[in-house]
Amino acid sequence: MKITDLKCTMLGANPVVRITTDEGISGLGAVETYKPYIGPYVQFYKQMIVGEDPTNVERVMMRIRQMGAFKPWGAAVSAIEIALWDIAGKAAGLPVYKLLGGKVRDKVRVYNGAIRSPMKGQNPEDYAEAVAKMKTLPEGFTIVKQAISFHSPMVSQVPDYFYGEVQPIGRHPHRGLLTERGLKHTVECVAAMKEVLGDEIGLALDCGPGWTLPDAIRFAEAVAPYNLLWLEDMLTGDYKPYVQPELYRELTRRSSTPIHTGEQIYLRQNFTSLIESNAVNIVGPDPCDVGGIAELKWIAEYADLHGILMAPHGTGNGLIGLAALVQVAATLPQNYIAFEYPIGQPDWWYDIVEGLPRPIVQNGFIEVWDRPGLGIEINAEAARQYLPEADRDFFD
Ligand SMILES: [Mg+2]
Repeated sequence: MKITDLKCTMLGANPVVRITTDEGISGLGAVETYKPYIGPYVQFYKQMIVGEDPTNVERVMMRIRQMGAFKPWGAAVSAIEIALWDIAGKAAGLPVYKLLGGKVRDKVRVYNGAIRSPMKGQNPEDYAEAVAKMKTLPEGFTIVKQAISFHSPMVSQVPDYFYGEVQPIGRHPHRGLLTERGLKHTVECVAAMKEVLGDEIGLALDCGPGWTLPDAIRFAEAVAPYNLLWLEDMLTGDYKPYVQPELYRELTRRSSTPIHTGEQIYLRQNFTSLIESNAVNIVGPDPCDVGGIAELKWIAEYADLHGILMAPHGTGNGLIGLAALVQVAATLPQNYIAFEYPIGQPDWWYDIVEGLPRPIVQNGFIEVWDRPGLGIEINAEAARQYLPEADRDFFD
């Protein structure tokens, strides 16, 4: 079998990658919603993989893996990797999880990081209301994650939140020392959320990046009584092209709440120092940024050897990303907690994708399905109307 083409289009909010072959089998790859500009970057790899046998996934990846980088520049390589596994599974007549070593679990736990309703403000009562709504969702999530502090509008909406300057644009650009009021406000919002959630639903917080180490330690100490599941990306993280494991190690040693990072990191090599020095308690790579699903599995196995837990990122990965996450999560060792459940945007995504269980999530879990490849397909007839004019031949 040989790869004949590599395509990328925008389908609603998500870029979609499609690899075609000379045997009529094609594969789909997912890119996060926040990357509508990725198309030309996908095309960059085309001449390096056309003519290769897509079922030799690793051999194809060796041609392109070195030409990616931290988020967002690992996305194209990651989407290609996922599409290769989709083809390899279909060619073998097996679900991707079988090719990755088989199922460790029949259903995978997911956590809510994507289903949100608009918040009226940034006060404790607004945070309480946000998680109260999450508590009633039909998915029955057992873990929810809420953005706070530098990962939220607190920075601009809470007066004198920190000693830095509020930036009008950028992806989580803030960094600096919190004011005492800012620190207290953040802790009050945590208390309000826990008041609602009690010990029925686990609460994780997406916090930064941008905290100074002393603030991060003070905050971790202040929220210790609340038994939070994790504090994510306090120091470095989302859209930071570096890790600073030595700072994380200091924080983790001082915090009884698990410390989490990793969604922006590209490749296993960039996790080794975090893992080997036990700089965090939980890693959270995103299969659509880290280099793909086999890359994520490798990191999970290595983390497990070091007593580090795994909670993959995935909020923007759309329904193809959801399928990729289900396949790999089924195979991860027992350090697996849950992955971040992505949704289809807009809603018509649920009409064009075939193969997903309905409902998708029950009691906070997704049943792992058994169809070949990723086990889902886009119905080309139903999807064609949503393709950009220039990509009308995307499914041909
Ligand atoms: Mg995050």
